[in-house]
Amino acid sequence: MNPFSYERAQQPDAAIHAIASNQHAKFLGGGTNLIDLMKDDVEHPSTLVDITRLQTLATVNPVDGGLLTGALVRNSDLANTTEVRTRYPLLSQALLSGASAQLRNLATTGGNLMQRTRCYYFMDPSYAACNKRAPGSGCSAVNGYNRIHAVLGQTDNGPADAHTCIATNPSDMNVAMAALQAVVEISGPKGKRSMPVRDFHRLVGNTPHLDTNLKADELITGAFLPAKAAVFAPHSYYLKARDRQSYAFANVSVAAGLELEGGSIRSIAFAMGGVCHKPWTSEEAEHVMIGKQATAETFKHAAEVATRGAKGYENNAFKIELSKNCIVRAFTLAAQGTGTASA
Ligand SMILES: Cc1cc2nc3c(=O)[nH]c(=O)nc-3n(C[C@H](O)[C@H](O)[C@H](O)COP(=O)(O)OP(=O)(O)OC[C@H]3O[C@@H](n4cnc5c(N)ncnc54)[C@H](O)[C@@H]3O)c2cc1C
Ligand code: SF4
Repeated sequence: MNPFSYERAQQPDAAIHAIASNQHAKFLGGGTNLIDLMKDDVEHPSTLVDITRLQTLATVNPVDGGLLTGALVRNSDLANTTEVRTRYPLLSQALLSGASAQLRNLATTGGNLMQRTRCYYFMDPSYAACNKRAPGSGCSAVNGYNRIHAVLGQTDNGPADAHTCIATNPSDMNVAMAALQAVVEISGPKGKRSMPVRDFHRLVGNTPHLDTNLKADELITGAFLPAKAAVFAPHSYYLKARDRQSYAFANVSVAAGLELEGGSIRSIAFAMGGVCHKPWTSEEAEHVMIGKQATAETFKHAAEVATRGAKGYENNAFKIELSKNCIVRAFTLAAQGTGTASA
């Protein structure tokens, strides 16, 4: 383990100042991801700026008919907030499907948005080639064991290429937030800004070392759930296909929400996890469902559109068919109204 110093911020401005004045400092939320990566010699911050005492960022409040969750709200608290359970059950289900009760009690909203990939080769520095951990070194996963890796939106120019990365974003919360079109609230030395979750996480492109569009000196202060996303509450479902029923990351997950009028579909909430470097969304797939009856045929068509161009590898090609099946199943269950959480 590398030596590091620790400081505790009492105000958001002090936290931003601490990180802006030291490019090797990192914020410490619940520590469930960052501390593991430090122990494994993957992350080496010189200073940890503990933000867990920022009480102003630890509450969930109604704003503009929607809901603003502070960045320090723990995953279990957010999942069990009455307003989330009743108006945004998709988010509650996604959060409760993640990790374990103990981890959810520690993990924060900001930390979950920022959690890093679980790619085996990224998490183990004994593998030299990893463009995310060591930019320009290549990618061990493309020709390695790639069961948990991406089938959509990845960059693959071969194992030696400096841009190749087929890692996935492992979060469940991020998938539900992308489907519900949540917005990330950000503060930095230059002031405040907002960014849709759908734009917050990045495709690999030519920058595999970058996971998000957050700048190094910026603090996530919260995530806003818009009022209009509450229309999906009666017909939403988070489906997570994984190797064990608990304490396992998604092989494929689907956040599905339908606004129904009669039997036909008025609007859609849709995102996928476990398949891409960011929550995978498809406006084309949403488009082919709008105005149609909520039937298996409609959902099958959308599943084909959403997975168009998917490319599998030796150990994960199964994800393509699994994705299609999960989309059909998640929307079918959403249409039946089986996913509504009770208060
Ligand atoms: C065994 C295990 C199983 C898991 N299973 C799942 C699962 O099934 N599904 C799932 O979704 N997740 C799972 N997780 C991941 C877990 O959800 C994350 O570790 C957690 O959400 C990270 O939150 P944290 O507050 O602990 O972040 P930290 O570890 O404190 O921080 C993570 C990163 O976020 C940065 N950061 C934290 N807060 C802010 C902020 N406000 N602004 C800017 N940057 C910030 C930190 O600097 C760091 O880089 C699992 C984790 C473990 C260890
Ligand atoms: S998939 Fe990405 S994170 Fe994994 S080894 Fe390749 S470059 Fe590294």
